[in-house]
Order: sequence, then structure tokens, then C-alpha cells
Amino acid sequence: MHDFSFKNNVLYCESVPIKELALKFGTPLYVYSHKTLIGHYKKLKKAFSELNPLICFSVKSNSNLTILKTLVDEGAGLDVVSGGELFRAKKAGIDPKRIVYASVGKTASEIEEAVRMGILFFNVESLQELGAISEAATRLKKRARVCVRLNPNIDPHTHRYITTGTIESKFGVDFDTARIIFLNRENFKNVDICGLHVHIGSQITQVAPFLAALKRVASFVLEIKKMGPCLEWLNIGGGLGIIYNKEEPQTADEFASKVMPILKKIGLRVILEPGRFIVGNAGILVTRVIYVKENTVKRFVIVDAGMNDLIRPSLYDAYHEVLPVVKSSVVNRQSSAKKSDVVGPICESGDFLAKGRDLPVPDSGDFLAVMSAGAYGFSMSSNYNSRRRAAEVMVKGSKFHLIRERESFEDLVRLEKVVNL
Ligand code: PLP
Repeated sequence: MHDFSFKNNVLYCESVPIKELALKFGTPLYVYSHKTLIGHYKKLKKAFSELNPLICFSVKSNSNLTILKTLVDEGAGLDVVSGGELFRAKKAGIDPKRIVYASVGKTASEIEEAVRMGILFFNVESLQELGAISEAATRLKKRARVCVRLNPNIDPHTHRYITTGTIESKFGVDFDTARIIFLNRENFKNVDICGLHVHIGSQITQVAPFLAALKRVASFVLEIKKMGPCLEWLNIGGGLGIIYNKEEPQTADEFASKVMPILKKIGLRVILEPGRFIVGNAGILVTRVIYVKENTVKRFVIVDAGMNDLIRPSLYDAYHEVLPVVKSSVVNRQSSAKKSDVVGPICESGDFLAKGRDLPVPDSGDFLAVMSAGAYGFSMSSNYNSRRRAAEVMVKGSKFHLIRERESFEDLVRLEKVVNL
């Protein structure tokens, strides 16, 4: 599933020992495998090859420019959700005709920029937003293309914070609103409504919710076709789950074999917007043990990465496997029955990377690897507690490249002004 493996008790990314990277660049450090990244993109592309879809990598999952450029060079499109991500997409050198743009809250200036650039289409999430896109396109004397994001009211059986396709969630429009949009399509000047979009959530490990959503979309497509509009695209979103712990998610082939028959029946050009599936297992977070302390019930392994570096455990109670970077340095030490919590230095009880683990007792200075941290890791990181955001390194074979420097203390205050009041 990925290219992080032990050779003689030493953890490698491809052909590079992780410890070498940790010593050279310091910790906390994100390390990505080029081979794993490209491998997952290709798996999906191959699985869907019969339909030749446009695979738009979801920039929110990991927005590092080298990650984006690597995928763009392989032929990927990009799925963006903000002016900032649009800016990054441009910097990564993508053809705007391969960008799709979702988000419930696109501002007027963000919309203008996307219209000016001539992106492939907006995934529109409300009637008001459609009006704003029409106004911007008319003002700029351009045409804007739009897919209507449907909320199919399907429970994807994932964490509630990453559930996006039930009627309680803010995303997309219900079928009645979508009908109104299509019936009134002539009123939206300079807008071509060219398709439909559906994205029901993230880290979905079963195919059934995808199929249920697509069935609802399929009958809606029939209805709309009868009304006359010419639909070209169906964007089926992202959401494919990956293995963090003991999940058994569908493989790309299994997923494709189940959804392709219905997609063929619908007969529109297909877009996928995966993020986690492509980059999740392609990255790890390397951290150094600062202290180890115990009380009567448990052991705390205090490390130099915190919730500001990887918020998934704190925010979603997410599981990430934690491995020693050099096994021999931590085995054979006196162990005890106590479980370990791997915690960060931040002043919050919610600041943890792992809880209740059977870990060999590490020493101060040992390195640990937090696995499967490539998606929603660095991209959700922050400066909380005035901590500098981590460095990022990409490994390709026996070579490695710094793809983002560690922030400096000066970076923390660069935009601030000391005002004497
Ligand atoms: N598309 C949209 C509209 C999203 O909101 C998201 C993330 O939630 C994605 C695609 C990517 O999802 P994932 O990383 O689960 O593939």
C-alpha cells in the first residue's frame, strides 16, 4: 500500500532512511514518497480507464506545490475550494481547463478570479451563488460553466465532521432546489449549466453509500434530460477511504467495478475528486521524543509534534499508527503493562497523536513515525501555541528534496505590527 518499510529494523521511505532525514531537516517533519503518491493516482486512473475520467486531485488534502505539480505532470486536474487554492493551482502550472471549484462560500472576488482564469467549471452550491457567478461572468463579458452540486441525502457512514451528503449538512442543494435551478436556467446570463456534482463525504470505506447516491443522481439526470438541458459532466467527488488501522476499504478496482456500470448508464463525462486516496498513505509525520513520564495508570510519550502539526486525532479521534523510526533503539528495554499516550507539547488535553498504545518504551531523542499522515496533515496544520509549521520533504528513490522549509520565528510575526496605543 505504501513505500515506507523496515530494512534491518530501520524505517525507510523508498531507499532513504527516515532517521537521516530527521537528523538533516529536524523534526517535526513531513516525509512523502513520490512512488506511493504517483502509484495511487495511477491505480485509480487504471481502474477507471474505460471511462477515461478527469481525476482532479483535491488540493485541500495536501496543497504543497511540489505535490500538486507532481500530480499535474502526471495528467491530473485539480479540485479547489478557495481563492488561495486557485492561486496554488496556478503556481503548480495547471491548465485552468482542468480545475473544478467547489465551496459553499465562494466570495465575489474568488468567483471573478476563477471566471477570468477560465476554469473548467464551478460546483455551485446555492441559488444565490449561481446568481453571483452569473453577475461576475456578465461583468467580465465571459461565459462561466457550472455543475450543480446535489445533496443526495445519503449517510456515508463516516465521522460526522466529514459527512457532506446528508440533508443536515451545508453542502450542495436538494433535488427540489436543483430542479428550480434547471427550470430557471435561462435567467442566469452568461452561465452554462453543464453537469452535476455529488460528494457525500470523506474516508468512506464501503461502496454502498456511493452507489445509493449515484442511483439518486441517475434518476435525476433522466428527469433533467427530459426538461431539455444538455448535461455533459458528472463529477462524482472524492471520499474513498484508506487504511489507517484495521479498515478494509474498497480498492480502486473494486470501487470502479461497482460504480462504472451505473456511470456508463448515466452516460456523462466523469470527473473524480480524490484527495485522501492519493496522498493519505504517501506521507508520514516524523517526530522526536522529548520526555517520557509515567503515573500510576499510564505512560506519556511527549513528542515534539502536536495537534498544530496533525489535528486529525484531536479533531476526529482519528487513529494513526505510530512506529519507532529505528526499532532496535527501543526494543529490549524494560517494558511494562502500561499503555502509552503519544502526546504533543501543546497546552490542551486534546493534544495527542495516539492514545492507549502498546509501544516499546522510547528514550528522549528517539524518533517516531506517525503513519498515513499525507492527507489532511500539513494542510490542516496551524501555528497554535506560536509553533512553527513543520518542514516537508519528498523522497524519490534514493534522492530527497526539501519541498517546504520549516517556518522561522520571524515567520510567526512577519505580518504583525506592534502598535503603541
Ligand atoms: N471534493 C470535495 C467537494 C470535498 O469536499 C472533498 C473533501 O472533503 C474532496 C473532494 C476530497 O475528499 P477525499 O480526500 O476524501 O477524497
